[in-house]
Amino acid sequence: MKEEIKKWHQESAALEPTQEERTTLSKAVLDFADDFVEKLPDTLAYHVEDRKGSGIYEHPLSEDGHSINEALKIFQEHVNEPGLNPASGGHLAYIPGGGIYASAMGDVLAAVTNKFAGVFYASPGAVRLEHMLVRWMAEIMGYPESAVGNLTSGGSIANLNAIVTAREAMNLKARDVENAVVYYSAHTHHSVQKALNIAGLAEAQVRIVPADDNFRMDTAKLEAMVVNDVAASFRPFLIIASAGTTDTGAADPLEKIAAIAQKYHSWFHVDAAFGGFFVLTEHGQKALRGIECCNSIVLDPHKGLFLPYGSGAVLVRDGKKLRDAHRFQAAYLQDTADSQDELSPAELSAELSRHFRGPRMWLPLFLHGIAPFRAALREKLLLARYFHQEIRKRKGFEAGPEPDLSIVIFRYVPESGNANDFNKRLVRGIVRDGRVFLSSTTINGIFWIRIAVLSFRTHLEHIDLTLDLLEETAGHLQKT
Ligand SMILES: *Cc1c(COP(=O)(O)O)cnc(C)c1O
Repeated sequence: MKEEIKKWHQESAALEPTQEERTTLSKAVLDFADDFVEKLPDTLAYHVEDRKGSGIYEHPLSEDGHSINEALKIFQEHVNEPGLNPASGGHLAYIPGGGIYASAMGDVLAAVTNKFAGVFYASPGAVRLEHMLVRWMAEIMGYPESAVGNLTSGGSIANLNAIVTAREAMNLKARDVENAVVYYSAHTHHSVQKALNIAGLAEAQVRIVPADDNFRMDTAKLEAMVVNDVAASFRPFLIIASAGTTDTGAADPLEKIAAIAQKYHSWFHVDAAFGGFFVLTEHGQKALRGIECCNSIVLDPHKGLFLPYGSGAVLVRDGKKLRDAHRFQAAYLQDTADSQDELSPAELSAELSRHFRGPRMWLPLFLHGIAPFRAALREKLLLARYFHQEIRKRKGFEAGPEPDLSIVIFRYVPESGNANDFNKRLVRGIVRDGRVFLSSTTINGIFWIRIAVLSFRTHLEHIDLTLDLLEETAGHLQKT
């Protein structure tokens, strides 16, 4: 038996490369990464590829391995090139993500050490590192010491964590669901709806609160709805506001909504996945005033802190509620019970084993300090306002309200013909060019084009290019 064990050991040796092999591997990957970053200014934000990445299927897995150069060639051609380039400063569609380099190095540390960040007993330092990051986020949001949170894979899961916490904290039982009311505006992100369904709340009453002319939640209408529901013996259970909607970047009036939630004993949740980190700026603090009054907050460090995808966060003002909602017992984890100086992430989410998310957020913040993040966020806010001011000067264009944060909606009003069709073609024309990537939305039947400025690589030259491209493309379409 020993002989056979040794034989398989030898045959699996590739899984533990020698130092020399490790150096070759990391050098090849880092050279690739370097080259990628260096060439970004000349790389398209959106690459229309006819095969749509299907070439990857020509390289199925096999018993025998391949060289790193072969792997990188395949990766570049079939994975990296087709479609959106989220690392591009020309990415102005949806909500741009980040990808700061130091984060990637943090991921290397996390993956190579493979610290088990789910349980305090297993990795006390890793868990404390994540708590420290959560504490910092809670502080900048104005939350008290009692707040607890969790680093998640993104905003959608964080919304689910918060909604499950609301359900448990409000002691909502299955038989109460039909009588419970959830309020949110028409511009609320769809992950909220998904989370309600997953959390077993699909049968709750949902009230879509109308928005005002700035696309912010109309609080007078919210209160009227709540009063109506109370009179009809419904229970106003949960109010969800957006600290920056995905559609238009509108910041709901959080202070006023908090007062209504308190008056009628509702849980108040704020989805700040897009806009939360703008509290690092004076402008953002004003726009998001009252965020500290809500019961739970969702943030997306992979948006407002420019981290790579896979970084969200949930914060709960009364942290005990987050833990109570994710309680569990497991006999095989009994050894961990004696070492409980700190809460374990496994007690605060649906996950047990998980990516050690701390280093990708900690390393850039620790290396660079907070100041450059604050500066970049200020730059984004100003770029959006600059765009809003300039697009209206271009012939034929009109814009939505002055941006609360860093999203602007606008459209071209053609001399004749269907405006919605025209703007649809305008977006298509811009995407086909590929230097900048933008997207659209429809509000009250009107097709709007939108830009969201949140990539750390988006600067004045990208906004100027976008303005020129829009004018040029619209002029061209107007003639055809
Ligand atoms: C992006 C976003 C989400 C979803 O977050 P993911 O990280 O993509 O899962 C939720 N709400 C708002 C307001 C967002 O902008």
